[in-house]
Amino acid sequence: MARRRQIYEGKAKVIFEGPEPGTLVQYFKDDATAFNNKKRATITGKGVINNRISEFLMMRLNEIGVPTHFLRRLNMREQLIKEVEIIPVEVVIRNIAAGSLATRLGIPEGQALPRSIIEHYYKNDELGDPMVSEEHITAFGWASAQEMDEIVALALRINDFLSGLFFGVGIRLVDFKIEFGRLYTNDDVRIVLADEISPDSCRLWDLKTNEKLDKDRFRRDLGNIAEAYQEVARRLGILPESGPGDVMSTKVVQ
Ligand code: UDP
Repeated sequence: MARRRQIYEGKAKVIFEGPEPGTLVQYFKDDATAFNNKKRATITGKGVINNRISEFLMMRLNEIGVPTHFLRRLNMREQLIKEVEIIPVEVVIRNIAAGSLATRLGIPEGQALPRSIIEHYYKNDELGDPMVSEEHITAFGWASAQEMDEIVALALRINDFLSGLFFGVGIRLVDFKIEFGRLYTNDDVRIVLADEISPDSCRLWDLKTNEKLDKDRFRRDLGNIAEAYQEVARRLGILPESGPGDVMSTKVVQ
């Protein structure tokens, strides 16, 4: 197949022109970055696993009526998605204190939160994705108040559903980040879930041992990153379709 035109390259994914108007191809790389790009590595097989996990979670969400950009997986590293206008806000939903919340507010990591907490971050690498309020988002026109109401309602619904789904396979959904986009159809515009949901963008802890099965293994140099991602895929019942060459090898190239 002829190489498609590249539209955008991010830290962990590349977006190519799709086969039809209104579609794009999302390619999952093995690259990992943390701490605003200061730490980088290649985790062999990560892209393949994240493609599968994100496909699985987006399909389950589609089934319960959450609108997403996902159309179908094309191959080991690529999925066909609907072209959307990304809203430049990262939405973080937290169930248990961890990461920046634990550090900033001095709440012990692992403490269950009294209720799910939603935070917003302005998507801007140069500024290091600063936390913002809905006031900033609506005042600067990144999204309207009506869009934010819809986004928050969808985020809570996604959190409830995914918390239960992961709980069922022995995993605690500690927190996660999602992004939304505007899908334009004729004279209508809809908010849909975009980007990806994978161990790169979630904190996932084993229910019994609290073992980290997510990107914190990379952030904190805990090792066995691809094995942990693969364990998440295995518990979700996603079997790798490839041979040992791609998914199984776990070499980390710094
Ligand atoms: N997260 C993400 N991308 C980012 C920042 C955060 O996917 O650019 C995810 C992260 O993996 C975690 C959640 O959002 O599941 C909350 O992250 P936090 O604010 O604690 O920041 P971190 O400690 O990851 O820097």
